[in-house]
Amino acid sequence: MKVAIFNIAKILSGDIASPVQAGDTIVIDGGKIVAVGSGSAPDCDVAIDAGGMMAMPRLIDSHVHITFGDYTPRQKTVGFLESYVHGGVTTCISASEVHVPGRPRDPAGVKALAIAARKSFEHYRPGGMRVHAGSIILEPGLTDSDFAELASQDVWLAKAGFGAFATPYDYAPYVAMAKRHGMITMVHTGGSSIPGSMGIWADHVLKMQPDVPYHVNGGPIAMPDADFPRLVNESDLAMQICTAGNLRTALLVAKLLKAAGQEERLLIATDTPTGTGVMPLGMLYTMSHLAALGGVAPEIAVAMATGNNARIYRLNSGVLAAGRDGDIVLVDACLGGSQNDALSALNNGDIMGVGAVITDGVPRFVGRSRNTPETIRKARVAQCRIPQNFSGEA
Ligand SMILES: [Zn+2]
Repeated sequence: MKVAIFNIAKILSGDIASPVQAGDTIVIDGGKIVAVGSGSAPDCDVAIDAGGMMAMPRLIDSHVHITFGDYTPRQKTVGFLESYVHGGVTTCISASEVHVPGRPRDPAGVKALAIAARKSFEHYRPGGMRVHAGSIILEPGLTDSDFAELASQDVWLAKAGFGAFATPYDYAPYVAMAKRHGMITMVHTGGSSIPGSMGIWADHVLKMQPDVPYHVNGGPIAMPDADFPRLVNESDLAMQICTAGNLRTALLVAKLLKAAGQEERLLIATDTPTGTGVMPLGMLYTMSHLAALGGVAPEIAVAMATGNNARIYRLNSGVLAAGRDGDIVLVDACLGGSQNDALSALNNGDIMGVGAVITDGVPRFVGRSRNTPETIRKARVAQCRIPQNFSGEA
């Protein structure tokens, strides 16, 4: 299916090196972006008139507590993943399947859980959501050959923080083993969030050298203030901040990274569903907090929620450019507020309204999001010719 989106006011590229790109039209073919530029929409199956809204890549929430299906046992809620799509989030990265009731703690069990989760979400896309599931929970006793087996089953995420280790320093060789097998490694930071787990502070993280220290602003409880400059200045690790964390230290991280000229290290995520709840608009709130209170330019806040996550997690999305995944979100200021476009809305501390979501080149909805207020401008389907061989879910 070939889809063209035209009449776009501004293209927020998601690429932090060049966050606003010239152009008013994006063309997607076979699920991939084939052109970003200016001019009239070419002949296509579906043409969407953006109505003067802005376009940005799909939001990538790099910290989501999935289990199986579109269900969170922690909040006993069904349909949360499909609901997140209406907040512009169309990719979730598992923060490990630690919320599975009675989850296993032995090496065979955590391996089986990661592989089962990974395979369960390979073809299951609620509402168009892409879930990168299967994050091995690091537990004592896992061996190098266990990681080899996991990697051979396409498990590429590993999580430290909830294992039965005596001290957080004991994770270091396991993080190193996971990395040797090509996995992206994540480490819980801050106070303990699960009864019995210990606080993990900057010194632990610096010894472990994970790819991503999770919710450095606290998940939900923050490490001491003195530890933040250490992580910024003594490492080049990505730093994830989460909506379900400490707002003051989230802003502190943003300011420290800006001062260091390293905003590309900041990743926005939600750390939901958790005790904080189910937050379909969590990504938009954190983008808005950073822009309105944290000194982050709003188009940079977009990149922190899209291209920055994609780069660290090696995803072919998060940036609007030819060859990238055909996942696009149309955004605008919300109706009835004081602002007139999506970027000034973020600067004002408002969330953006979502006016259309396209994932894998398939429009999931065009018009009003179920979860954000109505947009000022309206997108509409200007032409629709579903190809006869189309077999996707539209
Ligand atoms: Zn978490």
